[in-house]
This record gives sequence, structure tokens and C-alpha cells, in this order.
Amino acid sequence: MAPMTGLVTSDAYTAHLTGAGHPESPDRVRAIVAKLRDAGLLDRTVPIAPRPVTEAELLRCHSAAYLRIVREDVAEGLHKLSTGDTPLSAQSLETALLATGGVLAAVDAVMAGRVTNAAAIVRPPGHHATPTKGMGFCVFNNVACAARHAQAVHGVKRVLIADWDVHHGNGTQDIFYADGTVMFFDTHQSPLYPGTGSRDETGAGPGAGLIMNRPFAAGAGRAEIVGAFRDELVPAADAFRPELVLVSAGFDSRIGDPLGGFRLTDDDFAELTAIVKGIAAKHCGGRLVSTLEGGYALDGLAAAVAAHVQALCG
Ligand SMILES: [Zn+2]
Repeated sequence: MAPMTGLVTSDAYTAHLTGAGHPESPDRVRAIVAKLRDAGLLDRTVPIAPRPVTEAELLRCHSAAYLRIVREDVAEGLHKLSTGDTPLSAQSLETALLATGGVLAAVDAVMAGRVTNAAAIVRPPGHHATPTKGMGFCVFNNVACAARHAQAVHGVKRVLIADWDVHHGNGTQDIFYADGTVMFFDTHQSPLYPGTGSRDETGAGPGAGLIMNRPFAAGAGRAEIVGAFRDELVPAADAFRPELVLVSAGFDSRIGDPLGGFRLTDDDFAELTAIVKGIAAKHCGGRLVSTLEGGYALDGLAAAVAAHVQALCG
């Protein structure tokens, strides 16, 4: 069977409103889908329908108390999550449930062999959400719930999560810090929000050594980030032997992003994609799911996602 790439997206992802001028805007998804259409990539990918994540699926990563807070904050009409800097609107809960569920649907499609790999173009993003706290424009930790879903439903033992967003994926790190079944590799700008992610945060207990943070100063680009993926992630993955590869694909590490100072180009995102694809091909039959995290310059975001999806298809 020729490799096939799945694509999760939906107009419903524009229903989470963040207010005029907020960088994490519904236009992000609109810009990406328009670019994928123009580039012929909607025709080259297999659509995967998202579905809402269930409470039981969220409870694999989040506390019941936090889920209650989200429901209550939205029901009370708050404009911001009470746990952190994530804007809310009337449809935010439904949209966030569909964002996490969309990534789970992509995992199901990949694990069933309907597609080889998949990209989930969802929002709100997820990698800052901890077990007990939404923050950093995130409500639920989409990628972490996807890892737990693969383990609980598909019998996957070891999951690699690679995160190339310009910000540290503190929520993902928190969830798996002492886990031992999930390797987390994260390149990010430092100093920058949220302030975590130093090289000496390496995991604990059974997870010791499975958290790999690679912080770089503003101005870093291909040499540092592609270099870290090629020279450090690839050998670490060879030792870990993942059975599924997940990617927190943030494109605020692209040159020109208003929230970050990295200088990655669209070609660099294609190369990062090729590296994680190579890991998946070597260890787990190509099984890889990426999920959209940040990326706030609309044209740059759309171009970078197109380069990423094209590389997944290629
Ligand atoms: Zn980010």
C-alpha cells in the first residue's frame, strides 16, 4: 500500500473565539486550510472526521477538578480561563473537546492502518495544559491525551512526543515527567514563556532520562534545531524504540513569528518532518500523528504547515 496521509480539520475549530487582535485566532485554521487547498494538498490527503473527546479520555491526563473548572468557567461566561491565560468564548468547551478528539481520531486512523501518518489542524492548542491547569492559549493537552489513548486503546507501549514549538511544552512534560513509557523531546526558545524546559529537567523515577529539553537563545534556526533533532533525537529514539511518534507541531518557531525569535524556514520544517518520519519508518511502520500547536503569523503559519503536510505526504 502506498503511504497515505490523513488530515483532521473542521470549520468547527473556528468557533473558539479569543477576541479582536488575539494571536491565537480562528483565522489561523482558515489560513492553513486555504493554503493547503491552493497547494493541492487537500486532494492528496485523506480527510479524517474529528469527534469530541470523552470525559473518560480526558481523565487519563487531567484531573476531574480541572475539567469541572473548565465547564464552570465557560458556563459562567468568563472571557478567560480562571487557571491561566487562555481566552474563552461560548463555544470554547465544544471546540476544545473537538480539538483533543480530533487528534485521537487521527491516532485511530493511523493505528488501524487507514493512513500511514496524519496531521491534525486543530485549535485551541494543547501543550501548555497541565493535569490541573489550562494556560498559554491551551485548554486540554491534545498530544498527551493522544499518547494515553494510543496506549489504552491500541496497546501501544512506548510513545515518542517531539515538540518543535518555540515555547516549551510544560504541560506535556508535567504529565509524563515520571512516566517511563513516553519520551518527550522539546526544542524551544529560552528565555521565553512559560520559563520551564531547562536541560537539567530530564525526568524522574521510571521517566528518568526520557525528558530531553533543548533550549536555545532567540535567533536560533536550522543549525541548532534541525541539528538537535538529527544528532540528539534520532539516536535517543533508536534506544527508546517508539511504537508511535507524535509531534507537537508549533510553527511559532518560524522566522517572522510575532511571538518567537527563532528563524526556521519552511524548508527546515520539511526537514524536521522528514526526520520524525524517518524515526517512525524505522521503528513503527511510519505511524506518526502531528498536531498543531502555535504559529501566529498567518501567511508564515500557512506556508510552514503546507511544507510540513507535503513532507508527510512525500
Ligand atoms: Zn508556542
